[in-house]
Amino acid sequence: MRALMKLGPGPGEMVVSEMDEPAPGADEVVIRVAACGICGTDLSLYHGSKGLIAEMRPSFPLVVGHEFAGEVVDCGNSVRDLQPGQWVTVNPHLYCGACTACMRGQEEICSDRPIISFHRPGGAAEYVAVRARNAYPLPRPEAETVGALGEPLAVAVHAVERVPPGPDDNVLIIGAGPIGLLIGVACQEAGCGSLLLSGLPEDAPRLRIAERMGIPTAVAGPDLEEAVRSNGGVDLVYEAAGSQASLVAGLGLLRAGGRLSALGIPPGPVPVDLANMVLAEKSVIGTRGYTPRSWKRAVELLSKRGPDLLALVTHRVALEDFEKAMGLLEAREGAKIFLVP
Ligand SMILES: [Zn+2]
Ligand SMILES: [Zn+2]
Repeated sequence: MRALMKLGPGPGEMVVSEMDEPAPGADEVVIRVAACGICGTDLSLYHGSKGLIAEMRPSFPLVVGHEFAGEVVDCGNSVRDLQPGQWVTVNPHLYCGACTACMRGQEEICSDRPIISFHRPGGAAEYVAVRARNAYPLPRPEAETVGALGEPLAVAVHAVERVPPGPDDNVLIIGAGPIGLLIGVACQEAGCGSLLLSGLPEDAPRLRIAERMGIPTAVAGPDLEEAVRSNGGVDLVYEAAGSQASLVAGLGLLRAGGRLSALGIPPGPVPVDLANMVLAEKSVIGTRGYTPRSWKRAVELLSKRGPDLLALVTHRVALEDFEKAMGLLEAREGAKIFLVP
């Protein structure tokens, strides 16, 4: 089979290779991959980001791809709940289920958690073997079109579950990438007072996608400040851009008593006016990954909002054209790019 591999930690070092098709372990299923999304993490890995490699310690050479869906074609001996022909989307975090965090239902911070695409072969391949417990069945039409959005949608659902909007809260989402757009969808489902998504001027095409999905938008800067003023302030910010500037701006826009959910990972320390946070009782809540519960909810939303979510999938690119896909991602063109093995 063909698989997209990252051979080593340096810049580039990515190739499509021929390799044997995987066989399922006893508790695994083999999936014929229909689509595999790529995101900023894949781009950082492609470029050999030292920060990412130090944090994740990938086992090179590796098959990349952590956002994928497809059809089950083979099941290990002890798999009971899945069968060939079912379509699934996959949680790539192989949380242990036994550590203190897992026992508390905080699988997202599990201390023993290999990740598919860093420590196990990923889904940017014709076939991938995954732990059956991590594969969530999908109705077929959704699997074929938006199933590979399960992973970023689970991130968005988890953020909204961890820091839920109140029914009267004015919510601001900073960041017009797929995660920001999907937080918009999760907030629409959760219900809130008002919703606003902000991006940079070069995000104009992504802001138009948000508008089509019923999420009002504003461009960062005076446009955003005016929109926030006319809404009567911001009670809750989801920061999904991961820049120092947007974190500082988000905290500045927050009213007294407000909350900021930090999802984006800034490249370095962020100067924070802690006195203002203390005196104005502002909270910053770190949010990462997802739990099995957020995955269940994300899969429900894939079914419920499938046709809407299709607007996010702006490019489908053959595996061999991965360099073109990385270029599109780098240029912030479109929203979600799927590799089709
Ligand atoms: Zn991703
Ligand atoms: Zn654990």
